[in-house]
Amino acid sequence: RTLVNLQQVEKIYPNGMIAVQDVNLKIKEGEFVSFVGPSGCGKSTIFRLITGLTEPSAGRLEILGGNPEAARKSGRLSFVFQDATLMPWCNVIDNVMLPLKLQGIPKIQQKEEAERVLELVGLKDYHKSLPRQLSGGMKMRVSIARSLVVNPGLLLMDEPFGALDEITRQTLQQELLSIWGKDPKMTVLFVTHNVFEAVYLSTKIAVMTSSPGKIAELIDVPIPYP
Ligand code: ADP
Ligand code: ADP
Repeated sequence: RTLVNLQQVEKIYPNGMIAVQDVNLKIKEGEFVSFVGPSGCGKSTIFRLITGLTEPSAGRLEILGGNPEAARKSGRLSFVFQDATLMPWCNVIDNVMLPLKLQGIPKIQQKEEAERVLELVGLKDYHKSLPRQLSGGMKMRVSIARSLVVNPGLLLMDEPFGALDEITRQTLQQELLSIWGKDPKMTVLFVTHNVFEAVYLSTKIAVMTSSPGKIAELIDVPIPYP
C-alpha cells in the first residue's frame, strides 16, 4: 500500500525562491525513509508539504490516501521536531495526553494510552515531572511519546536527535528502531544531516541536492542481518 505519493511537486515561495522542483516520491506502508542533503535543499519544505502546512505551487500529493490537509486532520499523522516543544507548565503525562484531549478522547483512555507510550520510551517513573526538570534526551523522549500516543500511521521526524549528545542519540536511535519494529504498519519519514544515522535507521534513503531542491536518488538500504 502506498502511503505517500508525490508527483511532480514544486514549491516556489512568495519571494520567488524555488525551494523544491520535480519531486517524485512513492513510499509504501512500513518503510523508514531518511532524507539527507545539504542545508537549504528543501527537506523541511517537503515535510511542510506532506503535513499540509504549506501548499505546493505545482504537482500532486497523496498522503494516507487523501490530501495532506485531510491526513493531518485525521490524527493519523504525527510530527516531531528538533526542539522538543513541550508545554512548560504541564507535567509529562499531561503533555503526552494533549493530542488525545484535542481529539475529544475520554480522559480515562487518554491516561491509559499515555501510560503505554511513556513506558515504551522508558519514562514510566516521570509522569509527574515538569519539562524543566528533564534533560534534553528525556524531553525528546516525551516529545516522541506524544507523537506516538495517537498510533500514527505516518510519523515525520525533522532532525529529532540533532541537538543530543552522542550517547543519548544512540540510545534513542535504538529505542526508535525497536518501537518502529514492533509495528509493521508504522511508516517513518526522518530528516538528518548524519549519513551514518540514516544508514543505521532506514530502509530507504532519499538523497537530496539543492538549487533547486530535488530528490536525486532513492536508495534501498540493505538489511545488515538475516
Ligand atoms: P532544508 O530543510 O533542507 O534546510 P528548507 O526546506 O528549509 O531546506 O529550505 C529550502 C529553501 O527554501 C532554502 O533556500 C530556504 O532558504 C528557502 N525557504 C524556506 N522557507 C522559506 C520561506 N518561508 N520563504 C522563502 N524561502 C524559504
Ligand atoms: P529548518 O531548520 O527546518 O531548515 P529554517 O530554519 O530554514 O528551517 O526555517 C525556519 C522558518 O523560517 C520556516 O518557517 C521557513 O519557512 C522560514 N524561512 C526559511 N528560509 C527562509 C527565507 N529564505 N525567507 C523567508 N523565510 C524563510
